[in-house]
Amino acid sequence: TSYHKVLEENRILYNQVQDLKGAIRVYCRVKPFSPGQSNAQSTVDYIGEDGNIMIVNPQKQGKEARKVFSFNKVFPTNVTQEQIYADTQPLVRSVLDGYNVCIFAYGQTGSGKTYTMSGPDLMSEETWGVNYRALRDLFHISKERAEAIKYEVGVQMIEIYNEQVRDLLVSDGSNRRLDIRNNSQLNGLNVPDASLVPVSCTQDVLDLMRIGQKNRAVGATALNERSSRSHSVLTVHVRGKDLVSNSILKGCLHLVDLAGSERVDKSEAVGERLKEAQHINKSLSALGDVISALAQKSPHIPYRNSKLTQVLQDSLGGHAKTLMFVHINPEVNALGETISTLKFAERVACIELGAAQSNK
Ligand code: ADP
Repeated sequence: TSYHKVLEENRILYNQVQDLKGAIRVYCRVKPFSPGQSNAQSTVDYIGEDGNIMIVNPQKQGKEARKVFSFNKVFPTNVTQEQIYADTQPLVRSVLDGYNVCIFAYGQTGSGKTYTMSGPDLMSEETWGVNYRALRDLFHISKERAEAIKYEVGVQMIEIYNEQVRDLLVSDGSNRRLDIRNNSQLNGLNVPDASLVPVSCTQDVLDLMRIGQKNRAVGATALNERSSRSHSVLTVHVRGKDLVSNSILKGCLHLVDLAGSERVDKSEAVGERLKEAQHINKSLSALGDVISALAQKSPHIPYRNSKLTQVLQDSLGGHAKTLMFVHINPEVNALGETISTLKFAERVACIELGAAQSNK
């Protein structure tokens, strides 16, 4: 029967999810050079199938010039959006079984974060990013399970800019600041006043994304591209009612396009730009600190140090699963940022190993 089919699928999925449980997965994606840059020198010397990437500094010689970083996966530059999603799918699907999942895009501005999460063009399904593919997949699986479980899916979309939370799904473009309420009863609904819009097909999602993009552009100027200085969080809330046992399960998926991780030259940044840079630094390091504290099983997890970690609180740690896409730009003039991005990512990725070793 279809109920048994669902159970069997759940068992397979459960096994896949067990593989991922507890671990913070880090996938590295290298932006391809554009066709006009075919002769450009690359700082990426080698990408291994084993998750290693070698970075070369053209200004140094010998051993000094090369550094290897290791992650769960490193994608070659010609990876398709479909292949990226294939490696993300087990996590996304686990949301339908009541797990909370966080997927981040980290990297300097221009390294491909938005390309991975949203894609370059809403109109072209082939280049859709993780966000749309995840929702399409959730709709597809919930339809397949419809005889056994009745699912409802709703989305919220917020922006965190200078430590203020804003609703991106308001139709009137109002700029209301929202509060965060961390409460275990809420199960991922940490910004309860942000619009929660029911969706049941990809067209619904596309319509909402357009509203979100329009609202996000408010406040951006040509000089000050706001989207690179704010975190955008798309949260998918799933509620499933088991039609046999009548039990209810809830899961949520946060899809986060982080602010650009580049360090700002303190001597140059002043005024608004300096304030933005300080807020970004603070929230990205707070995210790193929370992830390390979780992996070290520290009794105190410093969620309260930034709005970002407060919003994501019940989806980081516990039974929640985390995936970080780390993006790098292989151009030689981005080398400094590439190294600091990879160091941050390695800190996030290695912690679990360190914790496991110390438990032995
Ligand atoms: P970010 O969000 O990190 O600021 P974007 O995603 O906007 O960066 O990418 C910067 C530019 O590079 C965009 O024009 C984007 O289309 C292009 N780009 C990024 N990643 C890829 C990729 N994997 N393949 C082709 N073009 C890409």
